Amino acid sequence: MNSDAPSIVWFRDDLRVADHPALHAAVERGAPVVCVYVLDEESPGIRPLGGAARWWLHGSLTALGDALGALGGRLVLRRGPADRVIRSLVDETGAGAVFWNRRYGGPERELDAGLKQALHDDGLIVHSFAADLLFEPWTIRTGQGTPFSVFTPFWRACRSAPEPRHPLPAPHAIDSADAATDDLGDWELLPTRPDWAGGLREAWTPGSDAAHERLREFLDDDLSAYAKGRDEPAKEVTSRLSPHLRWGELSPYEVWHAVRERRSGGEGAARFLTELGWREFAWHVLFHAPDLATRNWRAEFDAFPWPRLHPSALRAWEVGRTGVPLVDAGMRELWATGAMHNRIRLVTASFLTKNLLIDWRRGEQWFWDTLVDADAASNPFNWQWVAGSGADAAPYFRVFNPELQATKFDAHGEYVRRWVPEVGTDDYPEPIVDLKATRDAALAAYEHVKAAR
Ligand code: FAD
Repeated sequence: MNSDAPSIVWFRDDLRVADHPALHAAVERGAPVVCVYVLDEESPGIRPLGGAARWWLHGSLTALGDALGALGGRLVLRRGPADRVIRSLVDETGAGAVFWNRRYGGPERELDAGLKQALHDDGLIVHSFAADLLFEPWTIRTGQGTPFSVFTPFWRACRSAPEPRHPLPAPHAIDSADAATDDLGDWELLPTRPDWAGGLREAWTPGSDAAHERLREFLDDDLSAYAKGRDEPAKEVTSRLSPHLRWGELSPYEVWHAVRERRSGGEGAARFLTELGWREFAWHVLFHAPDLATRNWRAEFDAFPWPRLHPSALRAWEVGRTGVPLVDAGMRELWATGAMHNRIRLVTASFLTKNLLIDWRRGEQWFWDTLVDADAASNPFNWQWVAGSGADAAPYFRVFNPELQATKFDAHGEYVRRWVPEVGTDDYPEPIVDLKATRDAALAAYEHVKAAR
């Protein structure tokens, strides 16, 4: 193959120019580079993005286009089944090499493996790289060579593996090859009628620059308070890096080393790195159970007798009108900003599955549609964790009591008042369920799971 033939860099969940091994390799190769993002809503098994994710993607692609432009590159946008799109881009540009960073979901891996083979067969150079997880799922195994199903030993094994590599710099310049591109606006990723994204715009700035700025602020202002304050939503001491990590606007390697270099981080730094470990664990679990969003990880939960769905109860939960203040505050925060504090995600998910007795898959789908950080691993993994059906899950009988949780983690009611200003007035509804009676009903239903074990 002609060594001047262009290299294609296929961007996926890695919308950045720094610490991007695939882009780095393409620039090192020396030939002109075609940078492409493919909006794939057609390949079998690829889960269509939710509304909030589409909003984020628009901003993130705009920022990536600007970052590539500043280096002399250009972002080419294409839409369609990704394998077909990449192969026709190879034909159009006469490319001699294709580079990408690896993905870990089942359908994505299948697509990538098939494409890699086909391109190899056509005589192209094809390389994939580790970029978006610190520990690729197949590299961490138990003593018996099996995947981990419990977090603590998983994370211990990660910590005794070699330290994650140092991040790569952004290229100094990109020699760009030309190719036709779609217009981003034509993809209609932004909501128009109605435009519900006002709160998202206020809360977030997608893109690598904002991600790095957020990381710096977190390290300077919040890391030392993180260990103690991370469970209190009103304190706002968590990093809020999750959507930036989801879209790969900064890499976990960048975050890891930035934290490690803060010698003053102490307990906060250790705790924060463990949270990054939960992200790794969620992907480890998904890698070995690709249908995590649809199937109980513990098969005995298939025997759980979910009662007939009351659509009005589900709707009350979605819109934050259950009459349970902490739950409503969380659901309204989610709707307004595309995010929710972790503690409140736990409370709202427990309330849906154990007080309303609504199948966790309903809640997972709502979060998938409304979260800016929704990802194929963390969302179903955490839902199953709360529901009790997942890997290393909370024991089923651990039903979060939203009133006690409020007393403990929002003692002054600051968070609740921010999102439910009418709390305590006649305008606020009575609780739609009795917390104690529904908890007892959930525990009775759980007997079916126990019997199926
Ligand atoms: P920080 O506390 O600053 O944590 C740092 C980073 O660690 C996060 O940005 C995230 O990447 C990772 N992290 C922390 N906790 C977890 C966790 N439990 N599981 C996986 N990664 C974690 N997180 C997502 O990124 N995407 C999701 O779709 C998602 N869905 C969730 C659904 C439910 C029901 C629950 C209970 C949790 C979910 N989480 C999800 C995990 C967690 O709530 C968010 O990662 C966290 O709230 C993001 O805020 P932060 O960046 O300020 O977190």
